[in-house]
Amino acid sequence: MSKKQRKYIFVVGGVLSGVGKGITSASLALILKSTGLKVTVLKIDPYINVDAGTMNPIEHGEVFVTDDGDETDQDIGNYERFLNTDLGAINYMTTGRVYSSVINNERSMKYGGKCVEVVPHIPEEVIKRVRFAADHYDADVTIIEVGGTVGEYQNILFLEAVRIMKFSNPSSVATVLVSYLPVPEHLGEMKTKPTQQAARLLYSAGISMDMIIARGHAHLDQPRCNKLAIATGVHPNYIFSAPDVKSIYELPLVLDEQGVVPKLLKLLKLRLYPSKLDAWKSFVKRIKNSKKTARIAVIGKYFSTGNYTLSDSYISVIEAVRHAAWYYNAQTVLTWLDSEVYEKNPNALQDLKNYDGIIVPGGFGTRGIEGIIQAISFARKNKIPYLGLCYGMQLAVVEFCRNELGLEGAHTKEINKKTKHPVIDINPYQSKNVNAGRYGGTMRLGAYQCELKKGSLTAKAYGALQISERHRHRYEFNNKYREQIETCGMSIVGVNTESNLVEIIEISDHPFFVGTQFHPEFKSRPLNPHPLFREFIKKALVLR
Ligand code: GLN
Repeated sequence: MSKKQRKYIFVVGGVLSGVGKGITSASLALILKSTGLKVTVLKIDPYINVDAGTMNPIEHGEVFVTDDGDETDQDIGNYERFLNTDLGAINYMTTGRVYSSVINNERSMKYGGKCVEVVPHIPEEVIKRVRFAADHYDADVTIIEVGGTVGEYQNILFLEAVRIMKFSNPSSVATVLVSYLPVPEHLGEMKTKPTQQAARLLYSAGISMDMIIARGHAHLDQPRCNKLAIATGVHPNYIFSAPDVKSIYELPLVLDEQGVVPKLLKLLKLRLYPSKLDAWKSFVKRIKNSKKTARIAVIGKYFSTGNYTLSDSYISVIEAVRHAAWYYNAQTVLTWLDSEVYEKNPNALQDLKNYDGIIVPGGFGTRGIEGIIQAISFARKNKIPYLGLCYGMQLAVVEFCRNELGLEGAHTKEINKKTKHPVIDINPYQSKNVNAGRYGGTMRLGAYQCELKKGSLTAKAYGALQISERHRHRYEFNNKYREQIETCGMSIVGVNTESNLVEIIEISDHPFFVGTQFHPEFKSRPLNPHPLFREFIKKALVLR
């Protein structure tokens, strides 16, 4: 461990959940990193689940998978995208993880016979994990986003950890309250009272905040800033605005223009170097100047629950499509299509001709599956660019086997355990896990190597023959059908050579029909769009 003094910024939320702490933390990290500092970001989630893998994405949002196979919160995805770096399990902490460690330590006599108590042992474990991650990355500054909102029971022990760290070393810890300032329609005026109360709640947890970032429809004006300063004890120079922005990628620039980071560095007694956000600035400019549109249909189940939840469940897919579209100066118009419609009315498939490209993203379970298979068939036959992600690849194989190989009733064993043609089968290890009820953290998870077939569209898109991509699934392509499938025109163009598992299929007699067993969306970055998404969008824009 190096001797340098590590600094910590805790970001806590006031008034509402979903206020934008994740994007704010990612933005602060990006600006700090651009000044030359080594920065990492951690997320604390207050629920008891050990990871996000066992949670319904409709309720919780996307399960973001890291290279080391952790099933984390979607905010880890935001951090990776903003920082353009790979993070891992040590960047993510839940109440479940913290308690498990403490209980395991107790069982192995690590507390030397002491009475193990919620306080201090839980906050101490939290602090240990924060410091461990900071050391691992040799970070000058570690930003820790505390999930939830101040005043909830759930995060009180995490706030206790913040209090202890700040008390032990005040000049090494800064606290930022990201709070929401509503503008009630009937008043037409931005109200500060909820944030004043959030500040009080934070004080009641023994924590004074060093900075407030005021989320709201617009910039905070001076009178309200002063009011907030008096009520919270935070100097007006340390109160900043995070107004709504069209694209989340604008936020680092909005914060940078206000001089947020110099103030943070001053608080932490770090030397100030200027931020260098030129590449980011031209990227944001490109977003604003993107005039073309790529009309992309995303087909699946669950889509009747409203846009809000959806965009959270598939956030990495959405961002990956956007990154690729901006690369070609295009905005994306994403339409969510409920596949059950095609089961009831196959004529509705004709509407798919109105889209430049079709995506079937990852998923689980039976609902809407036949409709998805029909839509894939339509995309294949009508030569509409198609990108199948995980389930989207498996179902493309099912469709092809049924309709081109004539394997009636071909299916994935996930849906039909008794199918005569299990073209997608369960991996034997996974079968054991499922039978034993071991669901948490047991899928095929994280980064695996994949070898690409020379000359394939995929290999050309990647510009490489060896790649590494992230997985999250239990079922696999059944190698028994490999030869038959290839004879009929679906090519296996990506294989994990260690396990001989099929990772990518494509159809050569088609402008773009690619299915991946992995999730490429997790590795797309704003300044470095994923090659498969890029190629997909390129074809979508050319063929329209
Ligand atoms: N349900 C499929 C499996 O478990 C696909 C998973 C996914 O799309 N992430 O293999």
